[in-house]
Amino acid sequence: MPMVFTSVVHRIDSANGLIPPIGILFSWVVAIALPSANILRAEPTTFAVIGDYGTDTESSLRVAALVDSWNPAFVLTVGDNTYGDQNINVDDWERRVGQYYGQFILGRGDNRYPNQTSATQRFFPSVGNHDVIDPLPISAEPPPGPPFFTGTFGAIRPGYLDYFHTDPAKPAGRLPAGNHEPRASYYDFRMGAAHFFALDSESAFVDVDSAEQQAQWLQSVATASDAPWKFVYFHHPPYSSGSHGDQEFMQWPFAQWGISAVLTGHDHTYERALRGGIPFFVNGLGGQGTYPFGVLTDGSAARYNEHHGAMRITFDEGTAVFEFVAAVPGETVLFTPVVIDTFEMRIAVPEPSAHLLCVVAASLLWQRLFRRTAVG
Ligand SMILES: [Zn+2]
Repeated sequence: MPMVFTSVVHRIDSANGLIPPIGILFSWVVAIALPSANILRAEPTTFAVIGDYGTDTESSLRVAALVDSWNPAFVLTVGDNTYGDQNINVDDWERRVGQYYGQFILGRGDNRYPNQTSATQRFFPSVGNHDVIDPLPISAEPPPGPPFFTGTFGAIRPGYLDYFHTDPAKPAGRLPAGNHEPRASYYDFRMGAAHFFALDSESAFVDVDSAEQQAQWLQSVATASDAPWKFVYFHHPPYSSGSHGDQEFMQWPFAQWGISAVLTGHDHTYERALRGGIPFFVNGLGGQGTYPFGVLTDGSAARYNEHHGAMRITFDEGTAVFEFVAAVPGETVLFTPVVIDTFEMRIAVPEPSAHLLCVVAASLLWQRLFRRTAVG
């Protein structure tokens, strides 16, 4: 590639000794500007992020319809996939999750949850505090069902794993490979230019060892990944101006580990805060009642809690656009989508192929302009 560039420069150079520096400068300006228009890049991918949504309300219905209208490639959740009795009742999970998002969830071999109709997994949840049975002392009677995690405190997630992961027909389960146990469920997967990391912050909250294990796992997998984008998501927000406030136990050095953005919920608000050079999002307006804002967290740059909604994120190799869209209730329509916040990130280095092509094109254009001027 550098050879081609050199030869172009040489041709301009031979035409006029004064023009080349300007010609080269012009080429570089165009070369740097054009790749940002996404020329020669792969089609962008759009996905949705929902949080604190596991309830059967009009608001859940509006948010689900909003998400569906985007036709997203897949959906992430930042926890609290179900509210209420936290059990493994089939009807509860289908009523709170399946009826709204079942078309994204890979069905089980035994068709235990009929609303789960996707042929591929397009739904990637993370665990919230409402997805587990409350911590029990070690002396407590184990509840019936899958193995009981024992410890001073334990959090078990039988219903969550049964609904999203377990499949009698597939020993590996339905979610991407990772750690899927009653004690903690966390995992990672790659989608094009982005690497996703789902943490179990509820497990980290009740179990210091689990927090340590997850932090070590994230650091090693994230730093080894060559993905241009690295998105981590979980329930408890490290930084939030909502009523729960900053969740200090999750204030890990994400930026140092190469994470591009952190997506969370728990506070039923939308917020974008910038810390350590990366955005931290709170996105808990998926259906359950909204929360007020309290003390502003440092770096808070956008806040919203008027109506429910979801995040729409679009990325390619060089650009990622984060939006929060509200599903505002309408008089005659179910909802009107209103974009509340838009945040764009770009990777500074242009792709070599697009870069080279632009240099050549700009140089040819310059030559043409120069000749016209010289003749005229
Ligand atoms: Zn929560």
